[in-house]
Amino acid sequence: MSDDCLFCKIADKKIPSHKVYEDDEYYAFLNIKPYAKGHTLVIPKRHHRNILDFKDNLGTYMERVRSVAQRIQKALDMPDFTLINRCGKSAGQEMQHVHFHIIPSSPENPKVFSVDTIEDDLARTAQLLRDAKEK
Ligand code: ZN
Repeated sequence: MSDDCLFCKIADKKIPSHKVYEDDEYYAFLNIKPYAKGHTLVIPKRHHRNILDFKDNLGTYMERVRSVAQRIQKALDMPDFTLINRCGKSAGQEMQHVHFHIIPSSPENPKVFSVDTIEDDLARTAQLLRDAKEK
């Protein structure tokens, strides 16, 4: 637990939230500024800054994200959803405790993000990525 972390306090129930799911290690709650009905955040209870902080349990985290998404799909009859995870401030990560957004959508309530495109030499970039090694 990080003393100045809002999400640690939410997971520890020191700050109230609208719980969607909880087990020993993970906690899911509604975003107070939802992009759509059922917009949920899924966090590990232990403080992790971003997904790079995980050692060997990232798969378990992703399983929880999936099961919470399935719960939302069923509960709200929203067949589709967007997952967002930001790593680092310049990527728009406001809370420095890892979280996945699950943003539900359906044909009746579409939620499509439009993004500006850039010009890029895609072949060159792809080659650069293929040649790069993981840390
Ligand atoms: Zn935290």
